[in-house]
Amino acid sequence: MGWSRERGAAIGCTLLFHELSSRIEAIICLAMKDQRTPLPQLPAQTELVDTHCHLDMAAYQPDLEEVVHSASYHGVKRLISIGIDLPSSKAAVALTDRFPNIYATVGFHPHDAQRATPDALKMLADLASHRSVVGYGEIGLDYVKNYAPHDVQRKVFSEQLHLAKELDLPVVIHDREAHDDVFRLIRSAGPYPRGGVMHCFSGDRQLAERMLDLGFYISIPGVVTFANASTLHEVVRAVDLRHLLLETDGPYLTPVPFRGKRNEPKLVLYTAQKVAELKQVSLGEVARQTTANAVRLFQLPGDAHAS
Ligand SMILES: [Zn+2]
Ligand SMILES: [Zn+2]
Repeated sequence: MGWSRERGAAIGCTLLFHELSSRIEAIICLAMKDQRTPLPQLPAQTELVDTHCHLDMAAYQPDLEEVVHSASYHGVKRLISIGIDLPSSKAAVALTDRFPNIYATVGFHPHDAQRATPDALKMLADLASHRSVVGYGEIGLDYVKNYAPHDVQRKVFSEQLHLAKELDLPVVIHDREAHDDVFRLIRSAGPYPRGGVMHCFSGDRQLAERMLDLGFYISIPGVVTFANASTLHEVVRAVDLRHLLLETDGPYLTPVPFRGKRNEPKLVLYTAQKVAELKQVSLGEVARQTTANAVRLFQLPGDAHAS
């Protein structure tokens, strides 16, 4: 018995040693990973909102919990998951029941304009009554991919602009190479008591000023970290911080230094850092003001730290 007890203890020790060393290895790996990619650090008492991401997409299926918790750990406390059609709008709303810090929007993206039947729009309107739906979109025009004919895109965009107003929700606008038509349709459907945002802004300073006149926010994506984004840099310098929002549009449009990899909410820190650099203010100031803007536009619960 003595022999087997000793042998058992020896095996136990070996197992313990293996377990300890693999844990130490994991900690070292984590530290090295962090050393390779140190995320910008927010000052205490500040946070960011990722105002536009697609958390229902397949890219996040394997590790969504980790993505959401890691964002929160790094100060990206609130996330708005954006609908692009009926299933994704439903999925975004379902996520808000799973995670208290996720909010949702509902809408038909211009790519899916042909599926925006009267019945489907009625279902979206019903879905919008959920307490965590904070906006209507993303809606708009996309003249790059042209998945739907332009006249269908324009018709469905106008219908949804009016529906958003009926539902008393701010609008989230997608605009690719369609600046004049987007502006014209938004203006003719206005005014917007709840306002709106030009998500992933890709226009120039003149378009930004026209949208500001309509009371819209300009949302800055990770593209701002690209060296060749000079028009967007000019927009960021010109537009007052009180009119800017930040977004990832994850899983797309990953900022430098992760360009080419999957985007996720915590990486909005790089976008915030670049905006701070362009405007020559602190990261804390960018966080305070853009979070206050997001809270105001989407009527998110909780304090805004700036006016
Ligand atoms: Zn978009
Ligand atoms: Zn999007």
